[in-house]
Amino acid sequence: MEEAEPQFLYTSSIHGDETTGYILMMHLIDYILSNYGTDTAISELVNSTEICINPLANPDGTYHGGNNSVNGAVRYNANYIDLNRNYPDPKVGQHPDANAWQVETVAWMDYATNNHFTMSANFHGGYEVFNYPWDTWSKLHADDAWWKFVGREWADTVHSHGPIGYFTSENNGITNGYAWYEVNGGRQDYMNYWHNCREVTLEISNTKLLPASQLLSFWNYNYPSFLNYIKQSHYGFNGIVTDTVTDLPVAAKVFISGHDKDFSEVYSRNETGFYARPIYEGNYNVTFSAPGYYTKTINNVSVSKWTTTNLDVQLRPLTYDAQDKSVSSVLVYPNPSDGHFKLILPENPISPSCSIQIINTMGSIIYSSEVTRYSGNSTIEIDVPGLSNGLYYLKFNSGYRIYIDKLMIKK
Ligand SMILES: [Zn+2]
Repeated sequence: MEEAEPQFLYTSSIHGDETTGYILMMHLIDYILSNYGTDTAISELVNSTEICINPLANPDGTYHGGNNSVNGAVRYNANYIDLNRNYPDPKVGQHPDANAWQVETVAWMDYATNNHFTMSANFHGGYEVFNYPWDTWSKLHADDAWWKFVGREWADTVHSHGPIGYFTSENNGITNGYAWYEVNGGRQDYMNYWHNCREVTLEISNTKLLPASQLLSFWNYNYPSFLNYIKQSHYGFNGIVTDTVTDLPVAAKVFISGHDKDFSEVYSRNETGFYARPIYEGNYNVTFSAPGYYTKTINNVSVSKWTTTNLDVQLRPLTYDAQDKSVSSVLVYPNPSDGHFKLILPENPISPSCSIQIINTMGSIIYSSEVTRYSGNSTIEIDVPGLSNGLYYLKFNSGYRIYIDKLMIKK
């Protein structure tokens, strides 16, 4: 079931002979499962994050030499195609390598579409660097400052746990992808551009097929960074977007004017209304929009490093008035009234989720009461003497359906 929390993805060895991340991801799964319930930090991380780990994205390449050994592992899949050049590319187009999408590619594209990953990382070998977007063009990512900050955190943490000289390539362990070398059809750019994700390419060992005797050491160098990077999916600002009338979740676009570009914006999820927007420290004007709703902008949303700013938002439906006219099942009388009036309910309320609300024309709830009992008398008396003159909406949630009626106050 969908939960209102960030979704996070680790995946490794899309190049079959770059196996360090494969084993380190197995270690990570074991570490998380072993410490859940006893280690407070791990328990909190698991409870608040949907963590997905795919240790081996190219099994045919890794086990090219036989099912029981990684000796003979190759970069490519069974069709001898480089899977990290096989994705749609923001600059080059749908088939940058001129090959059909491979079964592995299609499976990942489906997986990405069916989930809503806030952040992800794809592990490689042959080099040691945190390679952040973009790979295909020299344009900087909208969150370039955030990428440098998160990359620096990753590399500095690795340096404090690993030997001198480890993970120091390019700018002491981090680089802009294109500045290092151009890649077209890579999964990183695909995820960032088409899925509003923040995916990084992580080269974690100069030796591609690292000897087994060194794998535990590499786990120890890296696992604090693995955990830090997951935690970053919670920082920035996040919250839930709902409908002012029904309180139901709304799938909204969360866009920062003057900042977002190349699909760096995020979306709230249809199922929960939850969105997460990792972003560098600063103040942002954030616009929430969705088909059928009035757009709303929240100015000066303040974000600090390693901090979560909560920003729940309600959007008002464009069809507010039209809906009211079409639903006449809640009978309010007298109407207009002085704030003391009666309701005839259209159906039997179902406890415990039944409520009556009075909403002003700005969409704010100014009166709310539970309806917990129904004893055959469908008339309810309401007395709200503080209401000023004007138009209001009365919302009755029976537990089955939501009814809306207009309410005029005239004193
Ligand atoms: Zn690779």
